[in-house]
Amino acid sequence: MRRIYLDNNATTAVRPEVLEGMLPFFTEAFGNPSSLHWAGRQASPAIEQARREVAALINAKEEEIVFTSCGSEGDNLALKGTVEALQSRGNHIITTAVEHPAVLDTCRFLEKKGVEVTYLPVDREGLLDLDRLERAITSRTILISVMWANNETGVLFPIREIGALARKHQVRFFTDAVQAAGRVPVDVEEAQVDLLSLSGHKIGAPKGVGILYIRKGNPLAPLIHGGHQERRRRAGTHNVAGIVGLGIACRKAAEELETVPTRVTVLRDRLQNGIVSLIPEIKVNGALGLRLPNTLNLCFAGIEGEALLLRLDMEGIAASSGSACTSGSLGMSHVLEAMQVNPLLGQSSVRFSLGRNTTSEDIDRVLEVLPPSVQKLRDMSPFWKAGSRCCAVCLSQ
Ligand SMILES: *Cc1c(COP(=O)(O)O)cnc(C)c1O
Repeated sequence: MRRIYLDNNATTAVRPEVLEGMLPFFTEAFGNPSSLHWAGRQASPAIEQARREVAALINAKEEEIVFTSCGSEGDNLALKGTVEALQSRGNHIITTAVEHPAVLDTCRFLEKKGVEVTYLPVDREGLLDLDRLERAITSRTILISVMWANNETGVLFPIREIGALARKHQVRFFTDAVQAAGRVPVDVEEAQVDLLSLSGHKIGAPKGVGILYIRKGNPLAPLIHGGHQERRRRAGTHNVAGIVGLGIACRKAAEELETVPTRVTVLRDRLQNGIVSLIPEIKVNGALGLRLPNTLNLCFAGIEGEALLLRLDMEGIAASSGSACTSGSLGMSHVLEAMQVNPLLGQSSVRFSLGRNTTSEDIDRVLEVLPPSVQKLRDMSPFWKAGSRCCAVCLSQ
């Protein structure tokens, strides 16, 4: 059976160039980059080369890049490290209700330690009210944490405007750019970002490597203590092969930023328009003009998203309901909940996230499989049988 992978927001395949570049660091170039002998000298220039490539993708300086083990670590380090370093300045963080769990759970943890957190709401399109954000800033505010792009809906936040606001009020600004980096232009200078996380496995590098960008002069307490690595901002022997892979993935993403996102947007829009025209009672989640090129999140009124995913999986099509982190737990995604999607309708959401390898034939196949699958599930659904008026009410809310 033909396999179609439309879950690139959960993870991506390692790019062949990335794998090839990594291989020597598992074998002959196995040295510890902190060692001074010949073996160490094979590894340390490769780390510094990768640091340059990552820095170039986000317009940062090399010394502002700290290698981490994943996006979640970067999020934890940004939040906990800032709270620890700035505790004499204040104890208030502003974030949003739609952040990734790596940010939201860390904020809840910090609340238990006495930190005050404001969770900004979003509107029905998933957008923030910037006036409200500015009004939330107090003399005790030390950090604003707003993701660059939402992993479930693809909604892009006005990072430049938030950066300007943060600068105006002299508050640090952290953005989780795990979904945005390599997919849309990300420039830490232009956006006046102080801290930024990204993750390898979302952009064609392996799992288990990421970075936190820390603007020069921003004090940050480390999470992991030990050796002198990463200028004492993150101890632990480097994941040399992973870091080399991340560097290559960032270089390739930068090279392709003019071409791949445009092609992916065309395919995503064709998928969206096809679904909307072939299947009645559909809701597209997230502001239409303000999304990542690759992401499409929809509600199929009257059915369970999970049931549809199983049917698609049987046809070799991999998609997702909301975020991979919440699948398996019943209930609506916190992102759709924050967007005030009707809870019944929210159960029917499915996310398609395309990648650089997605083809036109993949989209054709999904458009062939999806309408009869949705119809079959609707035929069995008590909500749908109750009359599509029930669904129409949910959709119109
Ligand atoms: C995937 C993801 C993360 C977590 O990254 P890991 O490397 O899997 O820990 C954090 N934030 C967002 C927005 C993500 O999509």
